[in-house]
Amino acid sequence: MFDNKTIAAIATAQAAGGIGVIRVSGENATQICDKVFKSLSEKKLADSLGYRAYFGRVFDGERDIDECVALVFKAPHSYTGEDVVELSCHGGLYILKKVLRLILNAGAKPASAGEFTQRAFLNGRIDLTQAQAVMDLINAHAEQSASAALSTLDGVLSKEINNICSILISSSASLSAWVDYPDDEIEELSCDSLKNELIKSQKMLKKLINTFDTGKTITQGVNAAIVGKPNVGKSTLMNLLSGVQKSIVSEFAGTTRDAVEETVMLGGIVLHLTDTAGIRNSDDPIESIGVELAKQKLERATLVLAVFDSSEELDDEDIELLKKCRNKISIAIINKCDLESKCDKSLIKKYIENIVEISAKEGDGKDNLAEITAKVLGTDKIDTSSAMLMDERQFYCANEALKCVDEAINALEIGMTLDAVNVTIDSAIEFLQTLTGQKASESVVNEIFSKFCVGK
Ligand code: GDP
Repeated sequence: MFDNKTIAAIATAQAAGGIGVIRVSGENATQICDKVFKSLSEKKLADSLGYRAYFGRVFDGERDIDECVALVFKAPHSYTGEDVVELSCHGGLYILKKVLRLILNAGAKPASAGEFTQRAFLNGRIDLTQAQAVMDLINAHAEQSASAALSTLDGVLSKEINNICSILISSSASLSAWVDYPDDEIEELSCDSLKNELIKSQKMLKKLINTFDTGKTITQGVNAAIVGKPNVGKSTLMNLLSGVQKSIVSEFAGTTRDAVEETVMLGGIVLHLTDTAGIRNSDDPIESIGVELAKQKLERATLVLAVFDSSEELDDEDIELLKKCRNKISIAIINKCDLESKCDKSLIKKYIENIVEISAKEGDGKDNLAEITAKVLGTDKIDTSSAMLMDERQFYCANEALKCVDEAINALEIGMTLDAVNVTIDSAIEFLQTLTGQKASESVVNEIFSKFCVGK
């Protein structure tokens, strides 16, 4: 029996497909696979120099199970940094589970969630930002999120963090030398040049932190609420955006009483959309509960899609709604533009800058709505090839680092001891190294990888 150093899992989706891949990684990967796989050329995988494909069959004792192509990667130049074999079989779940079982019986242990990528991290192949980008890339729903994740995987974010760290480390080094050996012949420390370096790192950190909202929007999507009076066409819009009959459309006002939810793509962004009950004053106790819920959804939504009926004049209830939208990221949707227009657009514009005219019933205006959505959420102009913070952990670390740099600059300005300045610079460095994983605790690392899927 081999020790537990070699892991195996199905790396492709848990569903039938043309091809399915079983990934094996660890120092005994090739020997273990040789126990179940025989190449047509009769070459042993353990003798392979790597980066070669071998066509053959997988056997359970004497019985052959499937045709298979084995790819061999040698340490350290593999995904995990260890010897890796990828067995591509026919992608039926029975076959894949059977082959995996044979590999496990031959001495590998089942990989836990994210263990391949965790090994890549522990073996220094990638840092934590790159490891997280692997999952972002797998989960990406649109071009922008995939492209940003790929840039992070390529190390764009790591490079930026390391650049900021380098500035801080050299500042800290010169400070330490000055503090520890003040009498030696060390070039006199210029507080001005130290401050300039700190200001430089402060600017870089601020710029990075400012990318977080967009980074979060393209990776996680945003909560959006469709609000408006009864009968303006909210449910019809919901159905248009989701592409299915999700909400009940009716000419009778007050039909949608509960919030209806759906995740849709609009303008390359994932919207977690809620169609709410029409907001109006009602004596019906059940409808009133729906109206209250709609108001709460409006308050909590990141993006408000406020719908108005083009064929009606605006009334007090519309104005009430417009006032509620004033301090939110909102788009005014003037629906039913296939009918004669009676609604005063200039009045709407006083409250909501971005207006789109659509006919949800006819399906007109969806492209314009998509364009404006990307504009108001700031995703229309993003450069996905530049460094971007993608999740709360990264944001927290960068923000804490910035606070420390602010503190160091302040300490210099008010003439505190250089020792005190140095302590805060060191803390900033530590937060940045936690971000990249250089100093992240074991529990943080485990927590990150536990969110991965098995086989990745
Ligand atoms: P809600 O109460 O705001 O959810 O409104 P509904 O989506 O249920 O629509 C109310 C009525 O307006 C229904 O009879 C719809 O067919 C109609 N309607 C919705 N959108 C349009 C549109 O773009 N043009 C026209 N002419 N009628 C629409």
